[in-house]
Amino acid sequence: AEVATMMDVPINKVIGACMSLGIMVTMNQRLDAETLSIVAEEFGYEVEFVTADIEEAILEEPDAEEDLVTRAPIVTVMGHVDHGKTSLLDYIREENVIAGESGGITQHIGAYGVQLKDGQKITFLDTPGHEAFTAMRARGAQVTDIAIIVIAADDSIMPQTKEAISHAQAAGVPMIFAINKIDKPTANPDKIKEGLASMNLLVEDWGGSIQSHDISAKQGTGVDELLEKVLLEAEILDLKANPEKNASGTVVEAFLDKGRGYVATILVQGGTLRVGDYVLAGKNSGKVKAMHDERGNVVKEAGPSRPVSILGLDGAPQAGDKFNVFEDEKEAKQIATKRTQLQREQSVRTQRHITLDEIGRRIALGDFKELNIILKGDVDGSVEALTDSFQKLSTEEIQVNIIHKAVGPVTESDVLLASASDAIIIGFNVRPMGNARMIADKEEIDIRTYSIIYDAINDLKDAMEGMLSPEM
Ligand code: GDP
Repeated sequence: AEVATMMDVPINKVIGACMSLGIMVTMNQRLDAETLSIVAEEFGYEVEFVTADIEEAILEEPDAEEDLVTRAPIVTVMGHVDHGKTSLLDYIREENVIAGESGGITQHIGAYGVQLKDGQKITFLDTPGHEAFTAMRARGAQVTDIAIIVIAADDSIMPQTKEAISHAQAAGVPMIFAINKIDKPTANPDKIKEGLASMNLLVEDWGGSIQSHDISAKQGTGVDELLEKVLLEAEILDLKANPEKNASGTVVEAFLDKGRGYVATILVQGGTLRVGDYVLAGKNSGKVKAMHDERGNVVKEAGPSRPVSILGLDGAPQAGDKFNVFEDEKEAKQIATKRTQLQREQSVRTQRHITLDEIGRRIALGDFKELNIILKGDVDGSVEALTDSFQKLSTEEIQVNIIHKAVGPVTESDVLLASASDAIIIGFNVRPMGNARMIADKEEIDIRTYSIIYDAINDLKDAMEGMLSPEM
């Protein structure tokens, strides 16, 4: 109705135009950005998005090659519960007290930096697990450069190990395996490497290219060597940033402290952040009144890959929100206000996730080249059979990617991964568990469940041919 009024055409004509695109709408429904553009075009209008307008002010110029300097890698630790993620992070935190620094890492600010003997630095995100990693990614933030996947050598490759691997792969983040608990008499690192090989993940000892190291997070054995491998991987990635500009980066965590007000930990990804800068972070803004590092030290400026906690924001932004520095306080404040307004107005987000019904239309529009699928099933046999059949549906126009497959119900973490990677979820003889359905509804993730293999394959095939009748 709103767009009809703006274009001064009858509402039923706009509804008709939507129907001819295969979208059934009511007059109060909100359309996504892409549909809006197409519909408006039918009536000779061009859509200009206000969101795009206000966000334009913070579009960053590409950096000139000569301004780029090497930055520290940012690492996330993932793996199955109890395999030793926290122990590893704790060990690294406690052992890496740099001589001359005024103390060890005393504050949990959500991330910390360590310096190795040769002066090289690594930044660790202090919230282990692929859920945190993918939740950030679902918010549009890709912070992690390298993932350490911890696997207990006295156990085996567990469901959450597989999830962590899929989540890292879907994000395109290189992995290093830390085969942990080798101090235990029952540890069998070779069995783990064999398990990885059977998943097509060949570690170096097995003639592959993925780095891995046997460690004991409890005793510290092998941890230095593991960190060396992180640096090696970082060198290959050739991580660079320009420190000579206004800072930008991502919020790692934020909370309200009774005495100090809002405290946000941010990870600088480009530029240098200074006390006194005007910052916009998600829907909040403010002047940086003070900065502290993970050692409780006062910090005056923070360059790329450096995590700092800042004081001065007018609220608590969410983990994964972007932050930017502005020349002028008013501009930062205006955008923050506008974002809040827009969010209130928009009942439906402009960027919707793919659904099976929509695939045909998106292919026809020509902007859809890859269909990402998360596949969960009741037994290994059906998961493998469906993987094979789905992959065979790939055509020249559209590639079917199974970004994660596993035996088990559809979980919250599957939904997060789908949201971060724009995937649909297919469950075979399994259903969504716990909060998965609720989050899927909120994130608009398409979950399809089947009990007949043939039906699943046919639906996907029809969808790809644009022939699936909408699910009512
Ligand atoms: P997380 O759930 O992956 O964070 O695992 P934790 O770090 O909490 O470790 C789970 C349990 O395994 C704890 O009881 C640790 O003490 C123990 N653990 C972790 N690493 C090692 C290790 O290298 N050797 C031994 N023996 N135990 C370990």
